[in-house]
Amino acid sequence: MSDEPTAPSFRSDVTVELVRSAAADSDVIWAARVSTAGEQSLEAVQQDPEKSKGLINFLMRDRHGTPFEHNSMTFFISAPIFVFREFHRHRSGWSYNEESGRYRELQPVFYVPAEERKLVQQGRPGRYEFVDGTPEQHKTTTEAMEAAYREAYARYQEMLAAGVAREVARAVLPVGLFSSMYATCNSRSLMHFLSLRTKRENSAVPSFPQREIEMVAEQMEQEWARLMPLTHAAFEKHGRVAP
Ligand SMILES: Cc1cc2nc3c(=O)[nH]c(=O)nc-3n(C[C@H](O)[C@H](O)[C@H](O)COP(=O)(O)OP(=O)(O)OC[C@H]3O[C@@H](n4cnc5c(N)ncnc54)[C@H](O)[C@@H]3O)c2cc1C
Repeated sequence: MSDEPTAPSFRSDVTVELVRSAAADSDVIWAARVSTAGEQSLEAVQQDPEKSKGLINFLMRDRHGTPFEHNSMTFFISAPIFVFREFHRHRSGWSYNEESGRYRELQPVFYVPAEERKLVQQGRPGRYEFVDGTPEQHKTTTEAMEAAYREAYARYQEMLAAGVAREVARAVLPVGLFSSMYATCNSRSLMHFLSLRTKRENSAVPSFPQREIEMVAEQMEQEWARLMPLTHAAFEKHGRVAP
């Protein structure tokens, strides 16, 4: 086997994989119906799908949030470190485990924006928009990022080769480095995350997330909508506000 260090590679996408789930609309119904049906609430779930839809809509509209917590989804996510910095701010109803830069040598996979990524910010904070960059701006961005990444990773390797500990050498690596983590949530905590980390016309409270975390959020939302279609539809109907 060669001892040559791996050459840096560059990515413009993020990956999200649903690795485990116990999440269905019926989980919301039985949790809510315990209020009135007690231990018969599980049977109540099977009885009338239209009633179930109505109940989920009512819970969402009136922000009765706790019935949306009795489910679980675990995602495996690969994204740049700057996305994880934003992600880990979501504390309530989330569990995280991320790969270690102390226990393993970090692999040289780095983020560069795709051509369709809007590059130029206009306006002032809180009221700005992003517009397309010129081909020259894209070229400058790609070249600058790749050069900085290559230099940083070469210095990291230099320190490791000199016997410096990984936890010290990693200080030179930039936030565009890809990391990976497991993130476990329930539908209520996911809705809170989605309300802040996606930008949609139908949001009652608009948010302006960074595009790269939105790319992660969009993939998570697709998986969740497949598992809990009635809950997802109610979230959409009531302005994407977490109950
Ligand atoms: C567009 C955008 C821009 C941002 N810009 C910045 C920035 O410039 N600087 C910065 O530091 N952060 C920034 N953030 C992060 C933001 O401040 C939040 O940390 C992040 O969105 C997580 O939201 P949260 O606290 O509501 O989520 P969670 O931590 O998951 O909390 C969910 C809900 O639980 C309740 N809750 C949780 N903890 C407490 C508590 N300790 N006390 C009372 N209630 C609690 C609240 O109701 C909260 O909304 C930004 C976020 C977005 C979406």
